[in-house]
Amino acid sequence: MKIDLHLHTTFSDGKLSPEEMIRNAYENHYSFISITDHDTFAGYLEAKEFMKDKYHTLELIPGVEISTIFENTEVHILAYYFDETNEDLIELLKQVYDSRYGRALEMVARLKTFGIELDWASVLSYAGKNKYIGRPHIARALITNGSIKTIREAFDKYLHNDSPAYVPKLKVDTEYAINVIKKAGGISVLAHPGRLSDDSIVYNCIDMGIDGLEVYYVSHITGQTRLYEQIALENNLVRTGGTDFHGNEFFYVNYSAPDICIKDLKALNEKRKNK
Ligand code: AMP
Ligand code: MN
Ligand code: MN
Ligand code: MN
Repeated sequence: MKIDLHLHTTFSDGKLSPEEMIRNAYENHYSFISITDHDTFAGYLEAKEFMKDKYHTLELIPGVEISTIFENTEVHILAYYFDETNEDLIELLKQVYDSRYGRALEMVARLKTFGIELDWASVLSYAGKNKYIGRPHIARALITNGSIKTIREAFDKYLHNDSPAYVPKLKVDTEYAINVIKKAGGISVLAHPGRLSDDSIVYNCIDMGIDGLEVYYVSHITGQTRLYEQIALENNLVRTGGTDFHGNEFFYVNYSAPDICIKDLKALNEKRKNK
């Protein structure tokens, strides 16, 4: 059984449309996937509509990845199986999503300090019809205008967090996000814990009521996977896993999260629903 619970589409900063993502996953024999765009689940909704009466061997799990802030550290929280009509969740996502536009404009203005005149229309063309603008879109526009050659180079030179061109985006408080997800009937999962600078944040998230850890994140090294697995077991948390695929890399045809991830998620979802 092939499982990937962390994927980005063109509705955030991924390169594949929701339809392309579904076809790709289906052709590569995935059984369960989740589209977890940053700050929006509109791509998931489009994919769900597209799958209607087709792709019976593939199950799409509702998902979203929310950028939150805990004591000045950016903490990404994944949410699964939430109520898609919950107004507080929709409002929270809208706030974060909408703030990106002005922030991106400001970053483009600040690139002038490097002597770079970036065409706003070019940035927008990469943002796509949903106008979600992230640093990767600015990076793609920088490649097109010849300033740099690779996305990585764009981050290293101009777009990293300590760059004079960097403008932080609006982030919601981690505990608030966890609570909104809970009230929306969703399951909250700490994304890629291995990318946190300090493991103590994992325990802070547990104190704040997080439901799970993304133990099997594709780039965790064995020691990290073991550690987060152990923490999850000790604290009765669900375990999830995914590739964080953005479309720049080849599709991870050989990746799968373990079956236990789906078992855990579904069991907790059933338990919540039957309460
Ligand atoms: P933003 O949400 O606009 O601040 O952009 C953050 C996004 O940029 C992340 O979700 C990643 O997709 C991407 N990203 C962050 N750091 C790097 C990097 N060093 N190289 C390539 N992509 C990156
Ligand atoms: Mn991203
Ligand atoms: Mn993330
Ligand atoms: Mn992600």
